[in-house]
Amino acid sequence: MNIYEIREQYPILDRKIEGRPLVYLDNAATSQTPRCVVETINDMYYKHKANVHRGVHTISQEATNLMEATREKVRRFINAKSTSEIIFTRGTTEAINLVASSFGDTLYTGDEIILTVMEHHSNIVPWQLLQRNKRLKIHVVPINSNGELDLNAYEDLFTENIRFVSMTHVSNVLGTINPVKQMIEIAHRYGVPVLVDGAQAAPHMKIDVQDLDADFYCFSSHKMYGPAGVGVLYGKEKQLSRMVPYQGGGEMIGNVTFEKTTFAELPYKFEAGTPDFVGIAAFGAAIDYIEGLGIDNIASHEQLLLDAATSQLMEIEGMRIFGTSEHKEGVISFLVGDINSYDMGVLLDKLGIAVRTGHHCAQPLMKRLGVTGTVRASFALYNTLEEVTRFTQAVARVAKMF
Ligand SMILES: *Cc1c(COP(=O)(O)O)cnc(C)c1O
Repeated sequence: MNIYEIREQYPILDRKIEGRPLVYLDNAATSQTPRCVVETINDMYYKHKANVHRGVHTISQEATNLMEATREKVRRFINAKSTSEIIFTRGTTEAINLVASSFGDTLYTGDEIILTVMEHHSNIVPWQLLQRNKRLKIHVVPINSNGELDLNAYEDLFTENIRFVSMTHVSNVLGTINPVKQMIEIAHRYGVPVLVDGAQAAPHMKIDVQDLDADFYCFSSHKMYGPAGVGVLYGKEKQLSRMVPYQGGGEMIGNVTFEKTTFAELPYKFEAGTPDFVGIAAFGAAIDYIEGLGIDNIASHEQLLLDAATSQLMEIEGMRIFGTSEHKEGVISFLVGDINSYDMGVLLDKLGIAVRTGHHCAQPLMKRLGVTGTVRASFALYNTLEEVTRFTQAVARVAKMF
């Protein structure tokens, strides 16, 4: 990969912040978007904008074809069996809410589910909302001091009351890559279906939902160089077909009368209303872009950045890195001495470095780590080793100021 050529695709990377070149290291919150994706958005508005699925006219068919082409690209990207298993949502959050609501409908008071302590709030709160009606019991898998899940504790949780497992593939705070394949296999031994939150995995590694044997898998376009407002829920046909729709409206019906309504086939049953066909088409361009570069090339480049950043940060006195698993992605959470994460973030911004600070939508994990927040740097395919050095030198400089 020629990073300098790649960077030309991202005008935002030329910006100056406080007179210094931007170093964008907040990719776990959202990645930047290359020209080819933005051009697809323009093309959709300039040439192909018509409502999808209902029109006989040419432009409506073009818009429909462009949207459905993305569904096939997503299917191939994660190796799903069929496009009927690919549901477009607004993002990971909506995908999890869909499952918590629709699969949740099949749960009863007294049923129990398993989450992990490293979940993003969007894989905690939907289950708590469900819990209000169903009085579910929620179990939480703990982590060890490296930030890895305790698999023995996980397996010990399984009793006949466990009905569902929902867990993240990669922690957005610790960077830990969880052994989801093994964890799914354990759950399946007890007949329990599993949802995997792939928001931090899909942009960075090859996903094969059939190999993982995941029952549900979800991710967001905006973290994968695509536009905001689009996400994917993959679900096994076996699971989706027995679930009731999440929302009602246009596009998701077979036949409507005031006496009785039938639902559309999968996947449309779960796609009420006019979808973001512009964003979905552009997400297709983002998948082409990732596949063009090669997800393995992206992963090894990001690993290089992670290793360099980690060893440089470790040189700084008082450095504490949260998440030291061997199986880790390009995310580093840290604190230096007793410098507040917010103060560090503000001062790094003055030096042109964009990082995230605070609880990263994972307050239960912060509590487990015994902190209120961390500073988080996260890498994408367009980051360079020079940027890593500028970042670590800036952290060292800020650390000295205190
Ligand atoms: C970002 C993120 C989410 C939420 O994704 P949205 O795009 O905001 O819906 C969920 N889980 C993890 C692990 C994330 O990093």
